Amino acid sequence: MKKVPLIGICRHRLVTDGQGVTTLVAFHDCPLRCQYCLNAQCLHADGIWKQLGVQDILNEVMQDNLYFQATGGGITFGGGEPLLRSREIAAFSKQCPAEWHIYIETSLNVPLQAVEAVAPFIDHYYIDVKDMNPDIYRRYTSRDNRLVQENLLWLASHDYCQKVTIRLPHIPDYNTEEDREKSREVLQTMGFREFDCFDYLYVTS
Ligand code: SF4
Repeated sequence: MKKVPLIGICRHRLVTDGQGVTTLVAFHDCPLRCQYCLNAQCLHADGIWKQLGVQDILNEVMQDNLYFQATGGGITFGGGEPLLRSREIAAFSKQCPAEWHIYIETSLNVPLQAVEAVAPFIDHYYIDVKDMNPDIYRRYTSRDNRLVQENLLWLASHDYCQKVTIRLPHIPDYNTEEDREKSREVLQTMGFREFDCFDYLYVTS
C-alpha cells in the first residue's frame, strides 16, 4: 500500500476524544474549505509533515502500546479528513493489537464507500457536521452537505448511533443558536443522541 501524507502524530493525549490515552494520527488534505479552519496546514502542499505507509504508522505509534492497553485507549484518526484514507485506516486496524480502541474525527463529507470501509473497526465517531442547513453549510465550507446527510442516514440505519458523538458548533457570522437547535432536532429525528455543542472561538479583525 502506498505512503500517505500526514500533518503530524500527537502522543499522550488524555480523554480528549476517546477514552484513556490516545495517539492522534492526523492526515493531510480535506475536501472542505472551512472559513475558520484551525488546521490550515492540511490544505497546503507545504503542510505535509511526513509520508508514511501503514506499517510505518504502526511502528510510530506502537511505542505507546502499554499506555493504550493499561488505560483502554488507542488511536484517534483525524486531519484534515481521515476518511480520505479509509483504505489505510482499515488496513491499520486489522494489523494493530485487538485491544486498541479506534476513534475517528471526521466531517463525513466523503463517498459512502469510505464510511463502509472503516465501519467494522471504529469504536467511536466524532462527527463535525458544522450545520445541517445546506445553505449555511455551503457558505461556511464552500461545499454542499449531501454526502454528510447520506452518510449520517447510513450510520443511523446500520445501528451505529450509540457509537457517534455529533459536534455542533456555533459558528460566528454563519449560524445562530437557533440554527444549531434546528440541526440538533434533525439529527435527533435520525436517531442520534450524543451531542457536543460548543462555540468556535474566532476573533474577527
Ligand atoms: S473540515 Fe477541518 S480540516 Fe477540513 S477545512 Fe474544515 S476545519 Fe479545516
